[in-house]
Amino acid sequence: MMQRIHCPNCGALAERHYHTFLGEVRTQCDACDYLLVTCAKSGRVLESYAPGLAVYKTSQRVQILLTQGTAVLQ
Ligand SMILES: [Zn+2]
Repeated sequence: MMQRIHCPNCGALAERHYHTFLGEVRTQCDACDYLLVTCAKSGRVLESYAPGLAVYKTSQRVQILLTQGTAVLQ
């Protein structure tokens, strides 16, 4: 079963697939690479990927590396 929804990340048309045999609901957006897999029974998030969030995590990691670099220089 497939449902057309609006992507919660970018607002473009995304797809929501219901995999009853796996017991999971998969939401994916081709426009921005958003991915969310939740358990159909408990609603728990099994896998998630949002491009905006990934960029934030990367910049945080760079900041940590820069801090460590400064510590080495001192
Ligand atoms: Zn999107």
